[in-house]
Formats: sequence, structure tokens, C-alpha cells
Amino acid sequence: MSGPAAGSAYDSPAAVAARAAACRTWSELADAARRCTACPDLVRSRSTVVVGDAPAGSRVVFVGEAPGAEEDATGRPFVGRSGRLLDELLAEAGLDRAGVAVLNIVKCRPAGNRTPRAAETASCSGWLNRQLGMLAPEFIFTLGLSAMKHFLGGGLSLASARGTVHEVPAGRLVATYHPSAALRFGPLGAPRTALREDLATLAELLAGP
Ligand code: SF4
Repeated sequence: MSGPAAGSAYDSPAAVAARAAACRTWSELADAARRCTACPDLVRSRSTVVVGDAPAGSRVVFVGEAPGAEEDATGRPFVGRSGRLLDELLAEAGLDRAGVAVLNIVKCRPAGNRTPRAAETASCSGWLNRQLGMLAPEFIFTLGLSAMKHFLGGGLSLASARGTVHEVPAGRLVATYHPSAALRFGPLGAPRTALREDLATLAELLAGP
């Protein structure tokens, strides 16, 4: 895809946030985000902008790091191996993927699945914050360290952030591992156990007192 040359200036987070703030509906925002060229290297590495899934009435928003190869090819979040495991674990917890919103902190695939740079997450936060404002979720469920740090800052480890409901401006936040870690450590690994436990906690929170 054509776009700015690698190494040229990033759009400022304020410029992206202003474009996002001007969007009144989800479809306006999706159209605007699909034309976004704020991050030069990501414009070069992406095939499409993965805006996210937002079913009507979703009470929880899952937030991961960035699209992978299958997400980039299909334009939908969490449809690769990690997404299939997430669907399986959601079903085990009695939750329906079709009823939850799924977003990433960065909407364009980084080359080689590298971790998004600080300037990229800062720019893309304009879109994410506007999406969270539109969805007004009761719960934000972060998947992996990058998403957790985006909301809670860099002072916490993922292990220490788990097990607490954090109050953040966009809602109540529960942090857990990314499904890719659950795949990497296998069916009996600690990340899969943690993910199961945290999804069960989320299901209890959604069921209410
Ligand atoms: S990652 Fe976000 S801010 Fe960067 S080019 Fe893609 S949509 Fe724009």
C-alpha cells in the first residue's frame, strides 16, 4: 500500500484525536480510520486497517495489542490461532464472542508482528479513545502486557495487575494474558490457566451481585 516514506514524521496524537472526535458514528469513525496514514511504517506494512468488532449492546470491550497476519488479511480482530483459542475459552466461561466488542491498541499490523512503538500507540489512542467513548463499556478486558500498560502505565507487571478490578476513565478494567501466550506455553501452561480464571471472573462480574 502506498503512503508516507518510512522515517517521515508521525501525525501527532492530537491530530488523530481531533479527526476521531469529529466522527459522530461508528461507521464514520471506521471510514476515517481506514484512511489513516499517521504511522508511516505501519502504513507500509498493513494491507488493511483493522477497525474492530463492536456488536450493539456489548457491555465489555476486549483490547489486544495489534492485528496479526490473518487479521490484516481479513480486516477483523482476533481471527487467527489466538482468536480461535479466545473463542474457545470464552465459550468455556459461558461468554459469547458475538456479544463482546474486540479492539486493539494499534489498528495496523506491524511488520513481523513486532511490538508497536510508543509513537504508534500514542497516535492510535485517538481512535481507540473515541471508540471507547462511543461504546461506553462497563468492563475493559485487556489481553497481554502492551494493552495493560496502555491503560495502567508501565509500573505494574501483568502478574500484579491480574486479580484486581482497576478503575480507569473508560470503565472498569480487568487485565489478563494474551491468548498467544496461552498458545506458546501450551494447554497446561500458567497463561492458559490465568486466562481461564480471568474470563470466569469477568463472567461473574457481568452476571452482577
Ligand atoms: S496504527 Fe492507528 S494511528 Fe497508526 S496509521 Fe494505523 S490507524 Fe492510523
